[in-house]
Amino acid sequence: MSMKEKETILRQVDVSVGRTGVLTPTAVFDPVLLAGTTVSRAILHNEDFIRQLDVRIGDTIKVSKAGDIIPEVLGPVLADRVGREDELREFVMPTKCPSCGTTLIHAKEGEVDLVCPNVESCPAQLAGRISHLASRQAFDIDQLGDRAAIALTNPEDQRPTSVETYVPSTSKLYRSGIEVRPGQMPPSYIPEHDLQLPPPQTPILTSEANIFALTAEQLKDVYVWYPVPIVEVRTAEESPNKKVHRKIIGDSGLFKRVRAFYTSPAKLGEEPEPTKNTLLMLEELKKKGPQAELWRVLVALSIRYVGPPTARLVARRFKTLEELESATVEDLTAINGIGIEVARNIVSWFTKAQDPNDFRGQTLRMWKMAGVGTSVHEDANIPQTLEGLTIVVTGTLENYNRDQIQETIESHGGKASSSVSKKTNYVVVGANPGNAKITGAQKYGIPTLNEDEFIKLLNGNA
Ligand SMILES: [Zn+2]
Repeated sequence: MSMKEKETILRQVDVSVGRTGVLTPTAVFDPVLLAGTTVSRAILHNEDFIRQLDVRIGDTIKVSKAGDIIPEVLGPVLADRVGREDELREFVMPTKCPSCGTTLIHAKEGEVDLVCPNVESCPAQLAGRISHLASRQAFDIDQLGDRAAIALTNPEDQRPTSVETYVPSTSKLYRSGIEVRPGQMPPSYIPEHDLQLPPPQTPILTSEANIFALTAEQLKDVYVWYPVPIVEVRTAEESPNKKVHRKIIGDSGLFKRVRAFYTSPAKLGEEPEPTKNTLLMLEELKKKGPQAELWRVLVALSIRYVGPPTARLVARRFKTLEELESATVEDLTAINGIGIEVARNIVSWFTKAQDPNDFRGQTLRMWKMAGVGTSVHEDANIPQTLEGLTIVVTGTLENYNRDQIQETIESHGGKASSSVSKKTNYVVVGANPGNAKITGAQKYGIPTLNEDEFIKLLNGNA
């Protein structure tokens, strides 16, 4: 066995629903140390992939890291199956969406990928779209991550099924976790005799239409379910640095409700206040929504196959959402780099949006009302000096950080790539460059540029 492979036990296969409704099975195995980090999960792509690997739940499996980064399952250790056949279980893909219960369909005829067709209100898809619209390549709002997205769209995620695992917030004992002494097990939990689960909440958002109309007041009474951790406490005498030492050592299986966007006052009679993060999130939405260039707005709409490069091509031809609304498939395929399938998807999205009752229609109307995608940005006129060029940057530059250099290359029509291949046109070399990229450039005879030379190329006078 190579150093980069480890053996472990496959415990289960989780199925998650992504932003576009595609189901992805993920292997969950006992944690192993690989290339410097502990890993316990690896993507298994789809049912066919799992069949081909021939892994069963309970198998000893070999895992490694592809390119030293992405954990992958290599296959089962067949010898370990002998005598354990009864303990192994074959994985079967669900027929209903694990998030909303809708019957799954195939993404395309003859394709193995399954999707949940409930695009509008499947909680997993909606939460995915909300955190995606806040991502760096869309509206770029740090405070609106996965957790905030779930709180806005699916606050009852992780709701306990009975009071047996529900810890009311009045219980001081569990405020910051169940405390145990080293080596001790937590006591078994007995709920108060008349304890009842709080009524389920109605989500604040049922689509992305009202994201720019959110107010602090609306968010006050949004609660999320939070797993209560087990905390090991060492007294000052027991810890090496002679201080009381608290460390989370696991989940208790119990859940409590906490405010998602407001503080929880410690004293009775005190009013909860919006957290700093909440105020910043609302401020950023108000500011960055109307400021965003059209390509970012298109990325934020989660139209299938419309990622940043495609969105940039479209936004260069159509300057506002309004212009794009009346575009035909022919208009779009006339753009160099836009194929028929992408064009059809864009037109289909905007056709559905013409129905004012469709969530896409509501989104378009509300976003335009908030000034999103309505004004022409100067950005639309950036000269395309890097058009058709694939550029790899290595090392630290003086004038750009990692995101800025990628943004600059792409806004000038180029493609920013992370690894050198024969398709690379230039390698831009900063301070402390990566060895692999330099040797790659030499191997393929690719010209290297320093930062000044790159800026010249950018300005069209290379
Ligand atoms: Zn669903």
